[in-house]
Amino acid sequence: QETINKIAAGEVVERPLNAVKELVENSLDACASSITVEISQAGKKLIRVSDNGFGMNKKDLELSILRHATSKIEDFNDLSHIQSLGFRGEALSSIAAVSNFEAMTRKKGESSGWKLSAAGGKKIKVSPWAGAQGTITEVKDLFFNTPARQKFLKSDATERSRIINSLEETALANYEISFKLLSENKTVFSTQQTNKKTERISDILGKDFAQTLKNVKAEHPKIFLDIYFTGRDNSLSNRKYQYFFVNSRPVNIPKWLSHCVFNAYKESIPHDKYPGFLIYAVIDPSDIDVNIHPTKREIKFADESGIYDLIYKTLKSALTTHSH
Ligand code: ADP
Ligand code: MG
Repeated sequence: QETINKIAAGEVVERPLNAVKELVENSLDACASSITVEISQAGKKLIRVSDNGFGMNKKDLELSILRHATSKIEDFNDLSHIQSLGFRGEALSSIAAVSNFEAMTRKKGESSGWKLSAAGGKKIKVSPWAGAQGTITEVKDLFFNTPARQKFLKSDATERSRIINSLEETALANYEISFKLLSENKTVFSTQQTNKKTERISDILGKDFAQTLKNVKAEHPKIFLDIYFTGRDNSLSNRKYQYFFVNSRPVNIPKWLSHCVFNAYKESIPHDKYPGFLIYAVIDPSDIDVNIHPTKREIKFADESGIYDLIYKTLKSALTTHSH
């Protein structure tokens, strides 16, 4: 079991970023409205994720670090659960196998909470814990017992910026949830809870950039688009401000989308500049396949050309309107 967990860890956690992502996804799955991530030494020494989600009872907590223990698979037929971020039940077991792991949690409606600690997935201890509703997971000394894996890690600066970029994307995608990131006890970013995407974009990408954005929405029987984009006078195009969110999940920008945007912008801005855009798409979950890639960064669309056309037409006409 221990070996299996270590092997699985190799697939699930390659670097601190993967652990951060899994922990944050669990907080999102627990319907948290506020999530704080703290890291030290780029997550190599410490990753702590605190949320105000629905928490776990003692049994859930004990099960949580067992391989293939997931509380999310029982109602698999329920579409909303297919939408839930994790359902494989191997993240915590894998992370715990290669770290000194602690989880503190109090379930909604219960008067007391529980704390679990484990060293390299072993010596599991559970004791009462007095804290607020929600869950705090702590990953210390990641890869302390897998030195080979440690050697593959890049510099702290690189590993840290991977975490920052990823969490920024997550915060942009989940704009109604408040996020905070601290590194060595210093705030990297902190967001207000909001129901306005522009406020979140401003918190994460800066006020200057947010102010240059224009907005256009489009509706189609099977897809809803909310697009924030820069017009021809975008002076902030040295960095690639390009984001694509599908049903609140940040995904890699597929080639067809790059082409689509390029074609829409072709006559509007000089081609040595990157247009900035954030495309929020809401699509019927039955029209996409999110499980083609384990990192869930790639999505397959049932009607790719339909989405291409809709984004192209929407952007193109908005650019024409806004530039006159
Ligand atoms: P999965 O997310 O695929 O179910 P994980 O290994 O990530 O598997 O988590 C195992 C289980 O631990 C989850 O199914 C959930 O029941 C519980 N859990 C983990 N993190 C949290 C959290 N932040 N809040 C509530 N429950 C959690
Ligand atoms: Mg999970």
